[in-house]
Amino acid sequence: MQLDFLDALLKPSTGIHSISETAVMIGQSKLPLLCVRNKRAKRYIIRLLPERVLRVTIPRGGSRKEALHFVSKNSAWVEKQFLSMRLQDSFLPNDKSQAVETVLFRGRRVLARSVSEDESLAGFANQLDRSFSVTGSSLRDAVETMLHRLAKVELPETTFRLAKVHGFYPGRVTIRSQKTRWGSCSSTGAISLNWRLIQVPAFVRDYVILHELVHLHHLDHSTRFWERLAKTCPNLNAAEAWLKLHGNRIC
Ligand SMILES: [Zn+2]
Repeated sequence: MQLDFLDALLKPSTGIHSISETAVMIGQSKLPLLCVRNKRAKRYIIRLLPERVLRVTIPRGGSRKEALHFVSKNSAWVEKQFLSMRLQDSFLPNDKSQAVETVLFRGRRVLARSVSEDESLAGFANQLDRSFSVTGSSLRDAVETMLHRLAKVELPETTFRLAKVHGFYPGRVTIRSQKTRWGSCSSTGAISLNWRLIQVPAFVRDYVILHELVHLHHLDHSTRFWERLAKTCPNLNAAEAWLKLHGNRIC
């Protein structure tokens, strides 16, 4: 690859087109904006997360409005980070003969490799930082089976943890392979979650779980439901934006 091509790709040229409460537009690409408060932070901090979410840390005494202003002041940096991340993505191996595939895990693209020996569930979860290995004749089936197993352990745990924090009392939590739903809540208080929540970033997973937990008190999508959810889940808008962007083609 020629260097001048790289330079052209990395040079902030188009600039950020718009910044809203929930997203930043860079050209045609939309980055969900996640604001997190951190009392120990001394200043505003922007980070482009591997799951393509722009996270802004708001320090003690800071505001969302100032956070947006900070993003706007640093728009050239954000765009450069975004473009270099896209460039790295294009270098992911795509060689079918090596039985390597990329899969979304906790909101990041990781590599899956086929191996002959079985891996324990713990080993699988731990090595999923950049790559992991699975057994089986069909790599994608093997990866999905493993992710499904991991989801059955992790998602109920997360649900009961969040329920405790926010004062909800769910009944049974089951993990399913729903085609079109992320989750559901029955009138008896049973919660069903889609195993694919193991693939989305943590803040999106928590949003879906909190959505179902709030249904324990409001079994509808009334104004009161959304008000309660907004109080319980400050990242509601960013999570909705992420799901809108990736929700239908998660794999
Ligand atoms: Zn709902």
